[in-house]
Amino acid sequence: MTMIKIDQYFEPASWQKFTKLLKVARRLFLVVDLSRIETKYHEMVSLFPNAKLHYAMKASPAVEVIDLLANLGSNFDCASIYELDRVLGCGVEHLVSHMATPSKKAEHVKYAFEKGIDLYATDSEADLKNIAKHAPGSKIFVRILVQGSETAEWPLSRKFGCHPNMAIDLLVQARELGLVPYGISFHVGSQQKDVAAWDDALSKVKYMFDWMKNEEGIKLQMINLGGGFPTNYISEVNPIKVYAEEITSYLTDDYNDDDMPEIILEPGRSLVGGSGVLVSDVVLISRKSDTDLTRWVYTDVGLFQGLIETLGEAIKYPVYTPKMETSTSEGTVVLAGPTCDSTDIMYEEAGYQLPEELEIGDKIYWLTTGAYTNSYSSVEFNGFPPLEVVYID
Ligand SMILES: *Cc1c(COP(=O)(O)O)cnc(C)c1O
Repeated sequence: MTMIKIDQYFEPASWQKFTKLLKVARRLFLVVDLSRIETKYHEMVSLFPNAKLHYAMKASPAVEVIDLLANLGSNFDCASIYELDRVLGCGVEHLVSHMATPSKKAEHVKYAFEKGIDLYATDSEADLKNIAKHAPGSKIFVRILVQGSETAEWPLSRKFGCHPNMAIDLLVQARELGLVPYGISFHVGSQQKDVAAWDDALSKVKYMFDWMKNEEGIKLQMINLGGGFPTNYISEVNPIKVYAEEITSYLTDDYNDDDMPEIILEPGRSLVGGSGVLVSDVVLISRKSDTDLTRWVYTDVGLFQGLIETLGEAIKYPVYTPKMETSTSEGTVVLAGPTCDSTDIMYEEAGYQLPEELEIGDKIYWLTTGAYTNSYSSVEFNGFPPLEVVYID
């Protein structure tokens, strides 16, 4: 793997904004540039003009991010009452949000319903009955299982969702239970590199829409296309524009203008990933034997301070150090975190290259760390405090 170039990730002016802050950093922290989230939001809205965006707030649940997106007009995808409280606490009651997780405690459904939430995801009979009891009359969408786990860098498609035939039964049962059978959702897996994953999922959805109308006389009204849109890590991905064009053409092939369902998108990673730079120090450089060609580079950030998505080396963050600008030779490194847990190794197989001139005390910048980092950071494993975040705009 060759070393990265900063201009693949940042316009010069935008990188300068970061570096001003990075130079004064004396501790581990994440810098989040809110203006980059704003740019991404506008891009997504303009590429999908007929869709409603529900920000999947688990990607970065900070008040700063919620306030920004709420002001831009975003809706929110809340997966727990805690996320719901966070959104409501930011004063965004007028925006639709829903409980996206198909497994919910009864008292949590009751609580959400009392707060005015009337749109729920489900994928099982027990959960559906739970919703019918505690959120009567609500709108229901059923999450189906779809393909895509091989081409998603962080697959999400196995835990939730059910077979389309079961989803049909649930939607029919929803009506019997006094709920509104409203639509279908899926998630093709996060950082999904294959645009065709949506095509596959949408063909299942189309079959279900037709079946429900013809066999049950139920006109479904909504398709939730989930998240999965990529951000800019090491491996190359298509621009979001390509995703938008392809998905729009799948939809217009399947539906006419006058029967086009309401479309919901739930982007998380693609909106916020590119906004973050994690600033870490090199704590130790060592080798496992005198002849070992690989250096072990230990940093003060690891899986427990926000880099959990490096598990299995799934997400490969661009790693940058200023010495790359002047380095004359580079070598392979293992990158490891600061704790005693041997899981706390970010990259061993990936073959990251860093300058031979790298020294203890140098800074390492982890680019594209705006998504799924601070919310995953542990509270005090080995005594390390949670990841601090600084917001700039
Ligand atoms: C996590 C999640 C998302 C966001 O996915 P990204 O790949 O980060 O865009 C969207 N919808 C649901 C239901 C999720 O669980």
